[in-house]
Amino acid sequence: MTTLQTFEMLIDGEWRPSLSGRWFESVDPYTAQTWARLPRGDAADIDRAVQAAHAAFESGPWADMTPSDRGLLLYRLADLIEADAEHLADLEVRDNGKLMVEMLGQMRYLPRWFRYYGGLADKIEGVVTPIDKPGLLHYVTYEPLGVVAAITPWNSPLLLTVWKLAPALAAGNTVVVKPSEHASASMLALGRLFEKAGFPPGVLNVVTGFGPEVGEPLVAHALVARVAFTGGDAGGRAVYESAARGLKRVSLELGGKSPNIVFADADLDAAVRGVVSGIFAASGQTCMAGSRLLIESSIHDAFVERLVDFMRGARLGDPRSADTDVGPIATEAQFQKVLRYIDIARAEGAQCVLGGRRAEIQPGWFVEPTIFIGVTNSMRIAREEVFGPILSVLRFDGEDEAVAMANDTDYGLAAGVWTSSLARATRIPRRLKVGTVWINAYRVVSYLAPFGGVKASGIGRENGAAAIMEYLEAKSVFMGAPQIVVNPFTLR
Ligand code: NAD
Repeated sequence: MTTLQTFEMLIDGEWRPSLSGRWFESVDPYTAQTWARLPRGDAADIDRAVQAAHAAFESGPWADMTPSDRGLLLYRLADLIEADAEHLADLEVRDNGKLMVEMLGQMRYLPRWFRYYGGLADKIEGVVTPIDKPGLLHYVTYEPLGVVAAITPWNSPLLLTVWKLAPALAAGNTVVVKPSEHASASMLALGRLFEKAGFPPGVLNVVTGFGPEVGEPLVAHALVARVAFTGGDAGGRAVYESAARGLKRVSLELGGKSPNIVFADADLDAAVRGVVSGIFAASGQTCMAGSRLLIESSIHDAFVERLVDFMRGARLGDPRSADTDVGPIATEAQFQKVLRYIDIARAEGAQCVLGGRRAEIQPGWFVEPTIFIGVTNSMRIAREEVFGPILSVLRFDGEDEAVAMANDTDYGLAAGVWTSSLARATRIPRRLKVGTVWINAYRVVSYLAPFGGVKASGIGRENGAAAIMEYLEAKSVFMGAPQIVVNPFTLR
């Protein structure tokens, strides 16, 4: 029996329960037991948090801080995260059941974001323009926007939040974070580190709870200037509509149905591992999952055989154990959804060559790594995001058909290409309608590399130097000695 841990949320530098006094629970997907209870916030908590963030933005120590000092605070936070990485990773594994080795890797990588954007904080230079108005000086400065709302999913809770926090704070904004109701604990622990680093109250606020009760009022709040959202289609569209009503700036990182394309000339051992990392790592619960394997007909049977052989050796089990390759599905609802898609694939006529059912590991929510062959691009299993360990295998003949199939999807997040042809590797990225292309690699991200989707996969880019500009607005200043305005009724 696990002891229930209680968490409070962070508003204006204070740790509190929700104003309503209500709570909700988080369940460990491996043990299927409740392990934590968290404040169930609502619009009243959001109002407090946004007001606090707004006040901290308008005046006080954060508003007066130089960009260099902001950068130093971010460095300090990075050091604290480094020292606390194991604790943060442990909280994430309890919440979402992903492998400890993966979450620990992510936690150890987080400091890079704070150091990178902390370093950028005092390198955003304005410009003096060669303005065409005699007697006037014109310059441009870049100013922070105000209160940023960050709304994030459960699959990589802190990593995806930090992609927003680091540039937003380096630019001088204040933030209200609404973490996933399935994985909030690590964000609250990160809030403690913000406190320890010396961030002034109100700069970071965290309100826990559900999408309709916390996320919606956050996006709709009149004092929120920008919304950075990562999550699914339905939530993303609702956020976009609400933000449009308030004329707010938005970035949306949504789902995908990414193709992993294997050509006959590929290094097949490397491609097998790449395909596995694309769909069976994290039990397929990643936005960038390579859930469609497009394979050149001439190697189809041999490649599928290798893939199935490789996966037969994969070990399912305790995500905290170093011997585990595949962990559970994060929530019961998601587990049921994955099983439903297996039924759908069968009903559509796809042929299951591996897995295809609940794994015999109780009481956790495990689905066997599953491979379907004979899939066509019109089947639901090839078009809809499952967010689970289900691979759809499709065949193609030649590069043109591969590209056409890869692009024939509502989504456009990422694509992998496996080939030893330099000419093809050079040519193909331009032809793929996605935000990220990996050639002979898969599932690689970096604070230096812009990430985001096209089409239904989203709007905007995170990471890379340009991302900080997403949290800044240009201000144009014309300056001169008092002048006689020759004709005040015309534009100068
Ligand atoms: P989700 O959309 O259900 O929830 C994401 C967050 O949005 C949660 O905090 C949720 O409470 C909140 N939310 C939901 N509806 C809302 C609304 N109407 N207004 C405001 N907030 C709302 O997604 P999820 O199930 O937590 O995560 C899985 C999805 O996230 C998948 O579709 C996956 O592809 C996507 N994802 C995308 C990326 C990316 O970078 N593109 C990364 C990870 C996950």
